[in-house]
Amino acid sequence: MNTSLDALIAEFRNTGTLSGLPCAQFIDGAYQAGATSAALESFDPGSGRVFAQFAAGGEVEVDAAVHAAKRALPAWSETAPAARSRVLWAIAQQVRQHADRLALIECLDSGKRLGEAQGDVRGVIRAFEYYAGAVDKMQGDSFPLGKDYIGFTVEEPIGVAAQIIPWNYPVGTAARGIAPALAAGCTVVAKPAEQTPLSALLLAELASAAGLPAGVLNVVTGTGAAAGAALVAHPGIGHITFTGSVATGQRVMRAAADNVTRVLLELGGKSPLVVLADCDVEQALDGVLGAIYENAGQICSAGSRLIIERKLHGSFMARLLERVGKLGLGHGLDQPDVGPVNSLLHLNRIHEHVATAAARGNAVLAGGSIAQPANAPGGWFYRPTVIEARSAQDPVVQEEIFGPVLVVQQADDLEQAIALANGTDYALVAGIYTRDIAQAYRFARRVDAGQVYINEYFAGGIEVPFGGNRKSGFGREKGLEGIKSYCKLKSVVARV
Ligand code: NAD
Repeated sequence: MNTSLDALIAEFRNTGTLSGLPCAQFIDGAYQAGATSAALESFDPGSGRVFAQFAAGGEVEVDAAVHAAKRALPAWSETAPAARSRVLWAIAQQVRQHADRLALIECLDSGKRLGEAQGDVRGVIRAFEYYAGAVDKMQGDSFPLGKDYIGFTVEEPIGVAAQIIPWNYPVGTAARGIAPALAAGCTVVAKPAEQTPLSALLLAELASAAGLPAGVLNVVTGTGAAAGAALVAHPGIGHITFTGSVATGQRVMRAAADNVTRVLLELGGKSPLVVLADCDVEQALDGVLGAIYENAGQICSAGSRLIIERKLHGSFMARLLERVGKLGLGHGLDQPDVGPVNSLLHLNRIHEHVATAAARGNAVLAGGSIAQPANAPGGWFYRPTVIEARSAQDPVVQEEIFGPVLVVQQADDLEQAIALANGTDYALVAGIYTRDIAQAYRFARRVDAGQVYINEYFAGGIEVPFGGNRKSGFGREKGLEGIKSYCKLKSVVARV
């Protein structure tokens, strides 16, 4: 698995795939065949061609995985925190050693730029290192009950944690859930998206090679309807972390209700990025472009709504459109400015949003169509798009598009910008560019969002808690909050 990146890329270019890709479930510390030999196909979005096959799991495989996780739970949860920490460090080390293969698989499975996939893998390493450092620092509280009592809290692992993972940041999302769950002493059953099943399997394989005991991390591949639904309805799990769309999140919550399973929902967004007239224009331009065109806009926290102060609008938009016009499309391996979107279905969905927005009278200022770049034949590309919204209520402002589509709104001042920012059902992240720190703080306090970025969109890392409000979900991942999501708090009081 340590072949150099160039050799791996050459292998893919020659064969259209990579050798040694698993087409099996990872259960109880090993690859296992499922109850049937049914397989599904994963596509390379940059060429539209089948890249790999993977096992189509369902109820039987999920049940086997949950049972393996339950069997492994007592020993793992009772492993001394310092020893658990060492295993997490070793996983980070394994991922570092195999980072090239993991990043390449992620690039080919999801379509994202190779450089971005490499950044995601560095994020995976950081997640395991961060939670390795946190395992033995999970201290509780004590209560002042008077001289005859001792009272304290203790955090206990919640049990088997299910992870339902989307296709836009497959390995990153897997790690940000799995690492804190393992740190807390939970065991895990993960179900990656059917568009991008491979990196989670490889992560489980690497974790096993790093010394994670059998059954502590299991991965079942398959569709959401078969494997996903079976997992979230399983009575053996104690917690669900779901990352995906609002509609599926609602379904997951309903399934969880039957067993009263705890749920953490990371759902969609239509995040506002406010640019005030006093900003550093160069910094704001870079910020706006990165916020919407990174990963072809397929980011839950993408800055998909630019809210610009009216007096800056004309000059800022001229420069923005000039830069958007120069963005190049291409296969993720060729390190383009913007890569393909993840599936043909999704490509058509993005175009449907844009075409109906145009038909309603919204002004398409750039892009607005499906592209067929000559350097990436057969791939699924959408032109970087900018739309000036006709009203704050228009669906193009209200609905998540999840593609390279920036929607522009104008505001007279900060007050109106805040009102517009808070004007959708989503509340995941919000950003502001201004040189006036008082305005930035006012915005940060009054905008409804799980996290606020000032003068650098996407600032921060695994240290910073992340999650949404309202239709963007609830619960927090990352940071020390992330570990608490996998713990149940117990209060103990003794009369002495
Ligand atoms: P999706 O809801 O269709 O799928 C997400 C996952 O749920 C996949 O693994 C899928 O197989 C599984 N699934 C589908 N039906 C299921 C069911 N009935 N029971 C259990 N699991 C089921 O979402 P998507 O279209 O793949 O992802 C895009 C969405 O995810 C966007 O809305 C985006 O904003 C959101 N997202 C949010 C975050 C965040 O952190 N808030 C991060 C990434 C993506």
